[in-house]
Amino acid sequence: MNEKDHWKDVERGREEDYFLKKHREWLEKKRSEKGISEVTASHTALACPRCSKPLMVRTLKQQTVHTCDACGGAWLEANALKALAGL
Ligand SMILES: [Zn+2]
Repeated sequence: MNEKDHWKDVERGREEDYFLKKHREWLEKKRSEKGISEVTASHTALACPRCSKPLMVRTLKQQTVHTCDACGGAWLEANALKALAGL
């Protein structure tokens, strides 16, 4: 890997962090909104891809969302994201 490629990877990492941060803010906003009582959480056998802690599975407006209480990450399918974002 040359230096140029290395920086490309660094940029990509920053982009991912940015989107994760945005997504987390969005989840926090959703949590504070009415309707959070619909959310139930349970542990899954899945490990967080980011920090390897067990993920929680939540159902939010009929969509399945995997969240990590350890690092605050959230993992969901593109269709679920679209549905939740109202796209
Ligand atoms: Zn995590």
